[in-house]
This record gives sequence, C-alpha cells and structure tokens, in this order.
Amino acid sequence: MNKDAKICIIGGGPAGLSAGMYLEQKGYTNYTILERLDRVGGKCWSPTYNGRRYEMGAIMGVPSYYAVHDVEEFCGITHDGPKLNRNYKNAKGDVIEPFEPKKNILKIPRLLKMKKQLKKLGEILETKYKGYDINGHRGVAEGRYDGFAVTPGREPVSGVNPNLKDLALPFSEFCNKNGVELTQDIWIGPYTSFGYGYFDEIPAGYVLKYLDFQTTMNFVKVNLWTWKNGTQFIWESLNGKLKNPARLNSTIEKVERRDGKVYVTVNGAVEEYDKIIVTSPLFVPDKENRRDGLVGMVDYFDAREDEKKLFSKIDYERYDVLAVETKPEDHPEISYYVFDNMVKERLGHLMVYYRRWRDEVNQVITTYALRKHKDMKEVPYDTCRQMVLDDLKTMRNPASNVVNEWSVYYFPHVFSADYAAGWYDKVEAMQGKYDTYYAGEVMSFGDMDETAEYSRELVERFF
Ligand SMILES: Cc1cc2nc3c(=O)[nH]c(=O)nc-3n(C[C@H](O)[C@H](O)[C@H](O)COP(=O)(O)OP(=O)(O)OC[C@H]3O[C@@H](n4cnc5c(N)ncnc54)[C@H](O)[C@@H]3O)c2cc1C
Repeated sequence: MNKDAKICIIGGGPAGLSAGMYLEQKGYTNYTILERLDRVGGKCWSPTYNGRRYEMGAIMGVPSYYAVHDVEEFCGITHDGPKLNRNYKNAKGDVIEPFEPKKNILKIPRLLKMKKQLKKLGEILETKYKGYDINGHRGVAEGRYDGFAVTPGREPVSGVNPNLKDLALPFSEFCNKNGVELTQDIWIGPYTSFGYGYFDEIPAGYVLKYLDFQTTMNFVKVNLWTWKNGTQFIWESLNGKLKNPARLNSTIEKVERRDGKVYVTVNGAVEEYDKIIVTSPLFVPDKENRRDGLVGMVDYFDAREDEKKLFSKIDYERYDVLAVETKPEDHPEISYYVFDNMVKERLGHLMVYYRRWRDEVNQVITTYALRKHKDMKEVPYDTCRQMVLDDLKTMRNPASNVVNEWSVYYFPHVFSADYAAGWYDKVEAMQGKYDTYYAGEVMSFGDMDETAEYSRELVERFF
C-alpha cells in the first residue's frame, strides 16, 4: 500500500492507538484516530480518588503481554504498579483456601486428580492442539492455524491441525472431551470472574487463546503486571507520543464507501480517506437499552449485506463494575475471589472485589458481577447492583457509598455454532474488501494485549 495512504482509525482504545503506533513504525504517518469520548483508553479507564488512580476497567497484565510491552518501550514507561494479592471467600463470606490440601482434607483426592489433569492439559495443548495459542482465530474452524506465535519473536506460523476444530466447543465440553474437566476450577478465576462468560457457553478458542497455559500459570503464581497510574496511563502515554494523537469528542454520523474512497462525516464535516480501520464495536445487539449511547458500525456505516449478516451474530457480556467507599474498619485487607458466585445459578452476584493499594484504606474497592448467560433471563442492572451491595455486607465489607459505576460493553464474541461455521474466516476474508479493516476485541479477545497484538498483525498483513 502507498505509504501516503490516508487512513482513518475509529476508536482511541488499545486497538486503535496501537494500530496508529504500528502504522507509524511502518512509515504510514497519514492516519487519523477518531475517539467519541473526551479521553483515550477505552476500557482502560483509571479515574482518580484520594490522589491516586483506581481501575474501573483493565487492571493487570502478564509477562507475555508483548504488544503492551512494545507500547511501553515506545513511550518509555513500565509496569510500576502495586503488587497484586488475593484470597478466596465462599458465598457466606468466610475465607477459604480451596487449593490448599491441608485445609481441605476431604478434597485431597479431587485436588490430586486436578493436578494430574492440569499436567495432561499442558501436554495436549502443546501436542494435540498445537497452534491453539496464536493470536486471532483464523483457520481454527477449518482445522488450521495461521497467525503470529505468542513467543518473544512473534514469528508468523501456519499449519494444518484438524484437532483445532475442538476449540469451537464450549470450554466445559472441550474439557470433558479431553478428560481434564477439573482444570476448570483453575481457569474459572481469571476467566468468569473477569467477566468473560461461563464455560458452558463460551467456545474454548476464546478461553485458551487468552488463558493459554503459560498465562494461566502466571495468574496462579500471581506473576502479574500493574501500572501505578492505571492502565489508562499506558494509552495516554502512547497517545502523547503519536505523531497524530486521537481527536477526542469525535461524533461520527455517517461513513460511506464508494469509488475507492471512504467518506466519514464527523462532527458535521465530511472527511475523505483511502482506508478505514474499525476498532470500535461492530454490532451492539441492545443499543436501545444502553445508557451510554454506544452503537455498532452497522448503524452508521453504509453497511453491506455480508457485514450486517455476520456482525449480527455478535453478543457481548453484561459486566458491571462498582467503585465503593467503605468505613475504614470495613475495608477488606486484600482482594477476594468468591468462587461460589462464578456459576450461572448465581448470576448477578459479586464474583470478585479488588483492593488496589495495600498501604491505604482511604481508597475505593471495585466490585465485579456478570448478569447475563445466553440461556437465562438477564438480571436487570439495578437488581444486580443491589445484589452486589448486599453481597458486600455478607462478605463483612459493606459499602458506605457508591462513587462510580459502569455497565460495560464487554468481551464481544460469537457462540459455538457460528465459531464452528467459520465466522472468523468469513470476516477475515472481508478484510480490505470495502477499503475497511476490522480490528478490536471481537477479532481476537477482550484484553489489552490481544487487541493490540491483533492491530500489529493487521498492519503486518495489509499495510
Ligand atoms: C472491568 C474491566 C476489567 C478488565 N480487566 C482487564 C485486565 O485486567 N487486563 C486486560 O488486559 N484487559 C482487561 N480488560 C479488557 C481491556 O480493557 C479491553 O479488552 C481493551 O481495552 C480493548 O481494547 P479496544 O481498543 O479493542 O476496545 P476499547 O477499549 O473498548 O476501545 C474502543 C474505543 O472506541 C471508542 N468508540 C466506540 N464507539 C465509537 C464511535 N462510534 N466513534 C468513535 N469512537 C468510538 C470507545 O469510546 C473506546 O475508546 C478489562 C476491561 C474491563 C471493562
């Protein structure tokens, strides 16, 4: 592509800003990033309380966050945040140690079996499912892998492996099929409580590309990265270094693609581009119910039939975050995972609450709950909010006040039937077709690194 190409990028979150960085590094400087809000970072949102930043969105990374590391190097920053610590509680609010054999004498046989299955899962992921962990989902439904390795060199790799078709199965079925069902006890903490859905509804491809074996072990060992000024600071720093920082408060009214050009009507004026990269939502199924006015690209683009048909399959998680104050004596001494609440029967209940700073009780605690499962009635927002506040009382860490709340458009994805029917290969085949490229969470996975890494790949492949 001509290095002077005029490129529009929609969205100033990790995917859009890193697309700008990778384009710039490849010699494309004629890009424009349009962001609808008055801040960058998207779901990396780190407001300030008592002089310090807390996390309403993304919290942590792991040492294999290579794309985030690219960004850190580009900006001269590092992961300098507080060390994370956590413990576990049951639904009654009692502290438990579910993985400690001495504290669970009756569960020792199960724990030993789990250990064996963990070893087995590690082995089959390397052998039977070779190629499972590369970024993105290209080829998986056809029994292929095709992408960039998640190793320090991040070299392009491809190959045939019919077993990979199993990644379309819901994760619980995948585990049963492979005789490793107890490993879900380990994966569920950093998966379901982080808002990515339940194992009986989410294809294994998403679970294992995000929580590949190494990443999961990093969670187990709490070998995690955080940022003192919040994850938003990563993206603010990047935005500050880019030749063309994001244009904030950009309201895009219309996008028309004709005669090899892309016409974007933004804040009332028409701008002409050669190509457009969409990192914002492609489809928002319940846009009429959302309080934040978020819509999908199909709503303001001259969307073609294939775009409408494919993107209408996308659903997302109803994941709610509250930031609450507590009285000093009610403040939790550490972050807690409530395993009992990570099952669909406990939809809407508090799954995890997070204390960020160990040295300070004058800070907010953030709480996390899911209120939708594909086979169940959605728990209304206000009901879920009250359930979480009641749960905090049960946990003996009652809130005295809610200072911030957010119902996020979280983890857009497709379900097993569409995954197995090659949804990703169909969308990948459309890349560039209408001078349009699709990036952001749904194309890889809803975390900072997978989205930034996908933007890197997109630039490598097409620009
Ligand atoms: C509560 C929570 C906890 C999380 N925890 C972690 C974690 O610990 N680690 C981790 O790696 N990730 C975590 N994540 C996920 C991570 O934040 C996201 O996956 C990541 O931010 C996705 O980047 P993105 O650029 O694809 O999308 P987003 O971050 O959603 O950015 C999209 C951007 O597009 C903008 N936009 C939307 N529509 C339009 C439009 N019409 N016009 C212009 N702009 C538009 C949005 O305002 C936004 O800025 C968490 C997220 C949340 C909410």
